[in-house]
Amino acid sequence: MRKIFTLSVFVLVTYVSFGQTVPQVYVKEYAVLWQQDAAEYRALCYQAFNLATLRINEIPAKKLKKSKLAIITDLDETIIDNSYNEAQLMKDGKFYTAATWKAWADKSMATALPGAVEFLQAAKQKGITIFYVSNRSTDDLNSTLINLKKLNLPDAKLENMLFLSTTSSKEERRQAVMKDYEVIMLMGDNLNDFMSTFEKKPSDERFAETDKVKEEWGKKFIVLPNPSYGEWENALYQYKRDLTPEQRETMRREKLKGY
Ligand SMILES: [Mg+2]
Repeated sequence: MRKIFTLSVFVLVTYVSFGQTVPQVYVKEYAVLWQQDAAEYRALCYQAFNLATLRINEIPAKKLKKSKLAIITDLDETIIDNSYNEAQLMKDGKFYTAATWKAWADKSMATALPGAVEFLQAAKQKGITIFYVSNRSTDDLNSTLINLKKLNLPDAKLENMLFLSTTSSKEERRQAVMKDYEVIMLMGDNLNDFMSTFEKKPSDERFAETDKVKEEWGKKFIVLPNPSYGEWENALYQYKRDLTPEQRETMRREKLKGY
């Protein structure tokens, strides 16, 4: 009896300590595994780029000839895959920091999402200019340029890479492109990549804003799946920084909708 009691206490203590620490490190494990190991993720990427191809094929030849057309695309988890960074952090039991990100970005070894390179090359062939509007820091410009060139992405040049310098909102940078070009498509994994109306909004308002432009998804707006991070995650934590892992855990639990 005593043995069983001791064993139970041991199991309970192990469970509680496991519950308080380990899952905080691995909270994104399933999301990253889905990105890396689910063929369903791969199929969704192809689906997005196939749809995007269909849309550019709909543009009349006359318009392609006469107008200066552009596609604005995000980079991370829209065109290039950084899941390796998140995976490595989990393997090492580390957390994302500015330094761990920089170490990864400096390697210029992100791979392309399935279908991304082919789509952007097809768009370029039609005479459409590609602008990479990313919230990577301007410190990452050179390493990212090397990465984009390695992947044979069109318009991989500094003039077409509008990175984060002053504000995380991409609106100003989108407007800068729109001064000279007609933007026919926006691509992103984060709704902030499309319009500023999604920024800093709670989840229910993000839902409402999404519904307001429901005709545009799959048309002018092409969305790629990202279960690991994004503005949705900030909204989940009510845009609060410096939360403890336990507070985050509680907030996640509160958000779960049961029946
Ligand atoms: Mg992104």
